[in-house]
Amino acid sequence: MKRALIAVGMLLFSSFAFSGNGAAWDYTGDTGPDNWAKLSPEYGACAGSNQSPINLAGFIDAKLEPVFFKYGAGSSEILNNGHTVQVNTLPGSTIAVDGIEFELKQFHFHVPSENQIHGKSYPMEGHLVHADNDGNLAVVAVMVTEGEENTALAKAWAQMPEKGEVKALTSDISPLEILPKEHDYYRFNGSLTTPPCSEGVRWLVMKQPISASKAQIDQFLQVMHHHNNRPIQSTNARPVLE
Ligand SMILES: [Zn+2]
Repeated sequence: MKRALIAVGMLLFSSFAFSGNGAAWDYTGDTGPDNWAKLSPEYGACAGSNQSPINLAGFIDAKLEPVFFKYGAGSSEILNNGHTVQVNTLPGSTIAVDGIEFELKQFHFHVPSENQIHGKSYPMEGHLVHADNDGNLAVVAVMVTEGEENTALAKAWAQMPEKGEVKALTSDISPLEILPKEHDYYRFNGSLTTPPCSEGVRWLVMKQPISASKAQIDQFLQVMHHHNNRPIQSTNARPVLE
C-alpha cells in the first residue's frame, strides 16, 4: 500500500502540492480532470476503473454492519490548499470498519457534491478522511443541503483561510458536528477524488444529509474561486451496497 501511504502523506502534509510535491492539477483546462492521468506517472490511477466519485444507484441490500464512530478529539488547524478548505483533526478520533480501526486525519469539502445519490447532486459534500496503520483509507462522505447554519462550519469559517494559508484553530471543532444524527450509509470501493486518485479506498456515504446555510456555502466558494468537484466516474462492475 505504498501508493496509499504516499497519498495519505500528500493529503496530510502537502496539501501544498501546487507544483513542488507532484504535478500541478486543477478542475478546469489543460490540467483539469480529463487530463489528470496524463499529467504525471504518479497520477496513472486517475484512469483506473474503480474511481470516485460515482452516482450511487442500483443498491444491493447487504445488511451492512454499523460503522462504530469513536469521535472525540477536536481539530488543530484549518488550511486552504487551493483545491479545498481542510480541517486537520487531532489524533484519537477513530472509526471501526471490517474490524479494522481507522483514525480520522482531516475533513474537507467540495462544492457542489462529488458523489450523487440516484442522480441527485447536493450543494456541498464533506469528506472525513481516515487511515489505518497500514495506510489503507476510509472516507466518510456527508451530503450537505442548503438550510440551517452549521455550527461546526461557523467556527471553522470564522477563520477561513485564503489560498496557501494555514491557521491554528482558536475554537474547538469536533468532527462529530460534521456527522448527521443517523449513521445509516451506502458503501462502495473507490478512490481518492484528487490526484494521485489512489484506489482501494473504502467509501461510506451517509444516507442522512447535514445542512449548511447559503452564506456558508457561498463563503467557501469565495475562497475557492471555482467549483471543486471531480466529474462522476464510471461505476463499472462495482456493487453499491446499502
Ligand atoms: Zn474530498
